Amino acid sequence: MRTERWYARRAEPLSAADEDQLFRLIQEAAGLAPFEPAQLSRLLRRYPRASGQFAKDQIVAAYRRFCAEGRLDFDREILRRLQMKPVRTVSGVATVTVLTKPFPCPGECIFCPTDARMPKSYLADEPGAIRAEYHHFDPYETTASRLRALENIGHATDKVELLILGGTWSYYPRDYQEWFIQRCFDALNGVDSRALEEAQRRNETAARRNVGLAIETRPDYVDADEVRRLRRYGVTKVQLGAQSLDDRILDLNRRGHTVAQTRQAVRLLRAAGFKLHLHWMPNLLGATPASDQADYERLWSDPGLRPDELKIYPCALVREAALADWYEQGAYRPYSDDELIELLAACKLRTPRYVRLNRIIRDIPAGHMVAGSTASNLREVVQRRLAAQGQACQCIRCREVRDRGAAGPWRLASNTYATSAGDEHFLSFNTAGDRLGGFLRLLLPAAGATAETGLDELRGAAVVREVHVYGPVVRLGEAGQAADAGPGRAQHVGLGGRLLAEAEAIARRAGYGRLAVIAAVGTREYYRRHGFAVDGLYMLKPLASS
Ligand code: SF4
Ligand SMILES: [Zn+2]
Repeated sequence: MRTERWYARRAEPLSAADEDQLFRLIQEAAGLAPFEPAQLSRLLRRYPRASGQFAKDQIVAAYRRFCAEGRLDFDREILRRLQMKPVRTVSGVATVTVLTKPFPCPGECIFCPTDARMPKSYLADEPGAIRAEYHHFDPYETTASRLRALENIGHATDKVELLILGGTWSYYPRDYQEWFIQRCFDALNGVDSRALEEAQRRNETAARRNVGLAIETRPDYVDADEVRRLRRYGVTKVQLGAQSLDDRILDLNRRGHTVAQTRQAVRLLRAAGFKLHLHWMPNLLGATPASDQADYERLWSDPGLRPDELKIYPCALVREAALADWYEQGAYRPYSDDELIELLAACKLRTPRYVRLNRIIRDIPAGHMVAGSTASNLREVVQRRLAAQGQACQCIRCREVRDRGAAGPWRLASNTYATSAGDEHFLSFNTAGDRLGGFLRLLLPAAGATAETGLDELRGAAVVREVHVYGPVVRLGEAGQAADAGPGRAQHVGLGGRLLAEAEAIARRAGYGRLAVIAAVGTREYYRRHGFAVDGLYMLKPLASS
């Protein structure tokens, strides 16, 4: 019945005047910069049809028709706007993903796909991979074209997080690494440089500033030298493949490293102030849903782990990986949808409030899977199951304000937990309805933890590892506000500055004489305004004793 009505409405002929209104509505929606979903409702009211407002599916159908007729150019992002899907820049920064060139990885993980056209572990038909191959894995071209695409559809790009993906970053030749990062910065600056440091200095005051830089690597490739090198590149976040916290499982799946090595990498990176993003993989060879649940528990009960962000990648049985042979011989079985949903629901409930659970499934393009779950909406299914039980995930991603329009009043909450590198203070501003407006991660390093990194500039300093304030992207300097400010949203009220002041007070009370921050190159100006100055590979601020 519902289907019939839907078709009846779509089939309803539109008058020339209605068509004209639709065309103008779509044109205006496409040109808005920055775009917020609420604006579409205003446009619907501004451009009504003769008999009321247009329906969402009428707008989408009209857009497709105008494109087919050549009156408009098709753009997937504009389609997403008209479908009222959330936009990418909603968390406060524009993310640009850049893939490194095809290159071997020292790992021999049996679940990892091999595609000679791609860096290890990537499949050629994944969205980021298609773009990278199109640009011949050129970091400048990939970055510049992504920025152009975002700007063409009205996204602000003055705060850009670079996400460098592909195999094991630390295994690439050093001169390639340095050139790659330099060219990403050149693309942000729109100017070629002669050296990495020159590109970084220019980015401090560029129109498009780098506010975060992430790479991905293996735990056994992280030592004090690597930590220093990453910092010199301007890296602020490390994605680390932990996969399992059970040496037997790591061994069976030929990971080639131990849990002790994961702990050591986490300790070093945390002491050096990096944001820690771990990858964890249930359903590996030798695991069961029960053993995976126990493994997930270790992530949070072990002070040597406790990452800031986590991606759960249930092991996907793809034909390009050696694990497919185990499956053929009956030695491996992918979990059923029900088993997976139950496990993921339990994981969500066990995730602490200081963690951002970025993903619980990897979207493998159709045609690669040998067997196992192909449901791409697992996150929604899991969320619905929890909601039906009156429960909800408490992680950062599930609580951040995004475009929900929350504007305070903000209550400051402090959550302290012990780690192998020292005590962590997770400070956050929340609404009465428990929506998260912003947070800060402060490490009070344990004795010896800093010395282990060899980073002399951090001696005697407490370390701010992350400051994040939510809300749509707000252009730098807009409305005379600082980088953590913006009109009408979480960024408006200077939550970042208030969080920093609180961190200073905590560090001072704990007896630290200095506060360090692992500042992305493009945030240096912001921290200068808060009294920090560049010192070696960090920014530091002396703390007056109280
Ligand atoms: S370390 Fe990562 S990229 Fe390398 S083989 Fe293992 S899973 Fe694949
Ligand atoms: Zn969550």
